Amino acid sequence: MSKRYDIVIIGGGPGGIAAAVKAQEAGKSYVVLEKGPRPLQGIVDSYPKGKKVYPTIPRHLEGPFPIDGLTPPPEKIPVEAYVDQVERFVQSGGLNIRYGEEYRDLDEDRSGYVVRTSAGAYLAKYVIFAFGSNIPNDLGIYGEAKTVRRNLENPQDYIGIPTLVIGGGNAAADVVSALSKVKREADDPTPVYWGHIKEKFEINKDTARDLGEEILLGGQIKILQGAVPKIGEVDSEGIDRLYIHQSPGAHGSDDVFMYQGMSFPMKNVIACIGTHGPSAIFNGINLQQITCTGEICKIAREGEQLLMLSATLQTSRRGIYAIGGSISPSYMEIQPDRTIREKRHSNLIFTAIQDGITAMEGILGASSAS
Ligand SMILES: Cc1cc2nc3c(=O)[nH]c(=O)nc-3n(C[C@H](O)[C@H](O)[C@H](O)COP(=O)(O)OP(=O)(O)OC[C@H]3O[C@@H](n4cnc5c(N)ncnc54)[C@H](O)[C@@H]3O)c2cc1C
Repeated sequence: MSKRYDIVIIGGGPGGIAAAVKAQEAGKSYVVLEKGPRPLQGIVDSYPKGKKVYPTIPRHLEGPFPIDGLTPPPEKIPVEAYVDQVERFVQSGGLNIRYGEEYRDLDEDRSGYVVRTSAGAYLAKYVIFAFGSNIPNDLGIYGEAKTVRRNLENPQDYIGIPTLVIGGGNAAADVVSALSKVKREADDPTPVYWGHIKEKFEINKDTARDLGEEILLGGQIKILQGAVPKIGEVDSEGIDRLYIHQSPGAHGSDDVFMYQGMSFPMKNVIACIGTHGPSAIFNGINLQQITCTGEICKIAREGEQLLMLSATLQTSRRGIYAIGGSISPSYMEIQPDRTIREKRHSNLIFTAIQDGITAMEGILGASSAS
């Protein structure tokens, strides 16, 4: 028989764990369902080995971090140490997390929600979706670059190999820094090319500081602004390659463009071009989403679907909440006058933790009112 809880939390990242801490403090029955074998599996899967974890607080929010055990220390420890810290915190707090449970679907019956996973079914009055947003965006090129990697597992694998990192945000900058550092320390002169489709890179201060330090220490980083991934091709030796070109230089007569281009074996390319939220999953369970148009969305791109959420992060279905990376980089907030407005939502550890607390406050408020 399925076990019944007040709250089922899907995903054991910073957001899900924060919600669990608050559920436990409030004496509610809850379970966290995590598909990986340990807490923070999403972080383990997506950060480069040894990456420093920044305790960044978005400009528009106020610190400090609200839960000590989840706070990345100010001295910026490597990701492995942060995951160990959180694992100790989870164990010492006796948080109820079930590992190896991948969310499959959700149903509703008279007594509440039924959450099905790869390993069983759970009944709950409230459900919090805290499963992050790690569905990689497509490169969107002809001959889709299936073999292009989406994260850096081991920087050492790239020693002696000129490498192209694509993307203009923090994740790409972290990968560039990590690669440059191991190459520099191994006296490897092969460069790290850093290509971004736009002219302007968008990285935060901490990341920029590390990158600047890496360049000053002699890192071989070659920046390619306006670099557009164009096509996947197979060369005469049968190697899959990715061709990128920089913005057209000379625009000749007769509609002829002059391009400067480079071609890399796809296995030497890492594309950190962002992830998109799980809108297909949200659609599957009929959570109301708004399709962006230029007039209503400034952050999300045209055609993207944004979840509609209340101030406590409740979705259009009563009792179902969505938090953290799964609602970044923006969602539609329902205003007190019932209009909706796109709300920026930084994909950061701080924001996810704060969201876990906000959703739990919503749940506690709703359950005390009922
Ligand atoms: C390369 C990189 C570097 C970053 N560096 C920083 C940094 O230095 N500082 C910072 O503040 N932020 C950083 N971030 C962002 C930060 O990691 C995220 O904002 C944060 O992890 C979001 O927390 P979350 O709990 O919402 O999601 P996640 O951390 O993604 O956790 C979601 C959890 O849900 C699990 N899950 C997923 N799908 C399912 C499913 N179907 N069923 C069950 N479980 C599931 C995952 O295994 C995962 O453990 C970085 C992100 C990346 C990609």
